[in-house]
Amino acid sequence: MTQSTGKIHEIVKWPDPVLAKRGEDVTVFDAKLKKLVEEMFESMYAAQGIGLAAPQIGLSQRITVIDCSFKKNPDEKVVLINPEIVDRKGKQVEEEGCLSLPEIRDKVSRAAWVRVRAQDINGDQIEMEGEELLARAMQHEIDHLDGILFIDRLSRLKRDLVIRKIKKLQKNGEW
Ligand SMILES: [Zn+2]
Repeated sequence: MTQSTGKIHEIVKWPDPVLAKRGEDVTVFDAKLKKLVEEMFESMYAAQGIGLAAPQIGLSQRITVIDCSFKKNPDEKVVLINPEIVDRKGKQVEEEGCLSLPEIRDKVSRAAWVRVRAQDINGDQIEMEGEELLARAMQHEIDHLDGILFIDRLSRLKRDLVIRKIKKLQKNGEW
């Protein structure tokens, strides 16, 4: 890995409207996109995350990066552009967090296994499968590209509790 000098982007927090919008398809696969993806990895690592979607840095585009190994294994660095889930199996219920919802954690039901169709950084079609944490991360990040946050997948009651907690933090200037 070469040392990147990319910029670290600030992470957008709920309730920024960019987080609730469907991202636009990426159509140009150029050096600028490569640089952006590198910056997304850097920004994700700086924020101690294992997944980041472009809307979380204020860009309404269908790009996401994932690294479930958190820098330990370069083979686990995943870039998904214009991704969609084409198959899913089983169920897992685990605690989830989100860089756009700091300090909020809750259990979310997800498929245990997914197959994703996407484009890579060069625009080539790829398909990849994931289970457990990777499956969870892919579903969480692809949700971001559809304007969905993990709190939108909680029960109405739990979601209301979370939002009340955030409003309190906002009021105290801690959000
Ligand atoms: Zn998230």
